[in-house]
Amino acid sequence: MGRCIRVRGQVQGVGFRPFVSRLANRLNLVGQVLNDSEGVLIHVFGTALDQFEISLKTEAPSISKIDVIEGVTFEGPEPAAFSILTSSEFGTQTRVTPDIAICSDCIAEIFEGGRRLNYAFTNCTQCGPRFTILQKMPYDRARTAMKPFVMCADCRAEYSNSTSRWFHAQPIACPSCGPRLHLIPESKDPIADSAWRLLQGEILAIKGIGGFQLACDATNIQALTRLREKKRRPSKPLALMASWNVIKAYTSFTREEEERLNDMSAPIVLISRTRMRSRKLPEIIAPGVYEFGWILPYTPLHHLLLDAVKRPLVITSGNLSGEPQVICNNEAKEKLFKIADSILMHDRDIIRRLDDSVERVTPRGPMILRRARGRVPETMMLPEGFSDVLDVAAYGAHIKSTICFNQNGQALLSHHIGDLDDPLTIEEFIKTDIEFRFLFGQQPKAVACDLHPDYRSSQYAASLGLPLVKVQHHHAHLAACLGENLWPITGGKVAGIILDGLGLGADGTIWGGELLLGDYFKFERCAWLKPAALPGGDAANREPWRNMLARLDQAGLCSYVEKRLQKKPYGLLRQAIVTNSNAPLSSSAGRLFDAMAAHLDLCVDHQSFEGQAAMYLEALAREGIGKALELPVQKRVIDPAPLFKLVGERANIAACFHASIAEAFAKEARSLITSGEAVAVVLSGGCFQNALLLELTLKSLNDVPVLTHNKVPANDGGLSFGQALIAQAKLKGGILNDN
Ligand code: ZN
Ligand code: ZN
Ligand code: FE
Repeated sequence: MGRCIRVRGQVQGVGFRPFVSRLANRLNLVGQVLNDSEGVLIHVFGTALDQFEISLKTEAPSISKIDVIEGVTFEGPEPAAFSILTSSEFGTQTRVTPDIAICSDCIAEIFEGGRRLNYAFTNCTQCGPRFTILQKMPYDRARTAMKPFVMCADCRAEYSNSTSRWFHAQPIACPSCGPRLHLIPESKDPIADSAWRLLQGEILAIKGIGGFQLACDATNIQALTRLREKKRRPSKPLALMASWNVIKAYTSFTREEEERLNDMSAPIVLISRTRMRSRKLPEIIAPGVYEFGWILPYTPLHHLLLDAVKRPLVITSGNLSGEPQVICNNEAKEKLFKIADSILMHDRDIIRRLDDSVERVTPRGPMILRRARGRVPETMMLPEGFSDVLDVAAYGAHIKSTICFNQNGQALLSHHIGDLDDPLTIEEFIKTDIEFRFLFGQQPKAVACDLHPDYRSSQYAASLGLPLVKVQHHHAHLAACLGENLWPITGGKVAGIILDGLGLGADGTIWGGELLLGDYFKFERCAWLKPAALPGGDAANREPWRNMLARLDQAGLCSYVEKRLQKKPYGLLRQAIVTNSNAPLSSSAGRLFDAMAAHLDLCVDHQSFEGQAAMYLEALAREGIGKALELPVQKRVIDPAPLFKLVGERANIAACFHASIAEAFAKEARSLITSGEAVAVVLSGGCFQNALLLELTLKSLNDVPVLTHNKVPANDGGLSFGQALIAQAKLKGGILNDN
């Protein structure tokens, strides 16, 4: 009598079959294990079957994630030994893991000798590329970018030896059979020469795991200046990559930050600059902002390079301004030489483009700001009540686009795809949709999108010919936060403080600073920031002084405006506001932050990236002290005017501004809890990526239950997840497009 055991979850590409084989051998069991469309399938015979099933769970490889183990009695021919069978090809329901940072055994291997000394493509069952090299499911070498590399006899022996850590490691490779590096211009020792070039102040393009990157010496101001000029990235913060010892010499961090840095997903972790040690780095790396983004080397190639330069490097994605990251060698040669002096390449294809993920530790734990490499295609459990609903695909926002598939009680949220104003990114967006359906067997019966008809994502969703649910932008933010906190479908209504950039409101005006009362099905707007004009429409997103003009005039400070904005065409803008021409009203919190930033002399003329003015304002506020000012609320409209009349130190005004906005919304939200209309508060929207605003709002709400974002971005990167949940709830409840 034997047992047939089904293991579901993230169990492929994590060394699960070798683990099962070792465990069976230890317990003197015979049988077989294979990967199939639903996960891992095991047939075992012997006596210690219960012990085997328990150990499957308790001793599983640390990088696996088991959802369920189901064992049933099984009768069949008993084999003589335990064996690993090749993958069976039916269906495509199972998962592959995200890409995993190099493990400590492999680091030792490349530095301490053996066959793979200095080998840039060393990886084992516990580490290495996964999703970025995957062509087809299930995950097996022949269906990855490793297919052209025929294993040598030594690698084959390790791959087949159940006691080796390469046992069934699909991307196993060595210098004699695996991918090879080459530098352009040509070099006999690509790593040493790349390092030498970096130390000379050159810009180096590197073929990474999920795309090409651009690197330069982070201590060299000329190199940094040149990189910024050539990449046309004047001020957006750049990330720093350094080995563990080097990072420690520059900055201290909390235990949680240390954990995030060393996590196998290897994200960029934002760490306060107040924790920098005496050794300084040039301001140009992240001018005007409160944090530095640090990342540890996560591939053998990065390790070898950093070991050779022994200092931090600035690492940024390798692309021309506005375009997606380059992944092909030919495209790299054609485009990246416009920025880089040399390119460190290799001959393994990148199948899928994935940026680095970005995280920060908040008082409520780690918070993902950009969800990409190391996170995708991880799935998330859906809350109670979402298992027996229609499968849905949702197409998210426009600038921080993502796609989300909700199927079988699980959400598969794509990586950050990016700005759909760029034609290449639109291509990537459509490719992601098609690929995810194909790879993961997603068969949505309905689709969801934003209310905004001009979002490319909305247009794409409408073109698919499936039942379409249009979801209000800030309702989707609210639902995304509910969903990741596993709030049940019948969990009751919550008070959602949604502080955001811009989103089309249910009434046709532009929203973005709202208190919503609602659940997955419905919402009402309970309070909002007093709307102000966006003079010049889109131009108001880029030029903070336009918002400053609108808010200062609204506060009755007209003559002050004339003094401050002498060189600006304020007369014309006022006229546009009065005649309502290209000056739509908006309750956007993001634009209010821009207005205050400009008022305090930050980014007055122009911001070169989204959120720049607000980031500078946060950094300034952290230097000041300011208690919350009680803002007037009339007919549910919160008026920020008094904040523009404050006098005193700029930093104190900025601090008071943050505290007052936090307190005003917290107060309104609390009143919905007190009245019994809501059972918890939700914090969502892009402004909650402002760590100070988040901290202050949490402080103001310390007496009520609060849900925040951790796994899903609070910004528009999380929107598709919220849309999918709302569409599923509405389809379940039989209500469609009622707001
Ligand atoms: Zn390894
Ligand atoms: Zn080999
Ligand atoms: Fe948004």
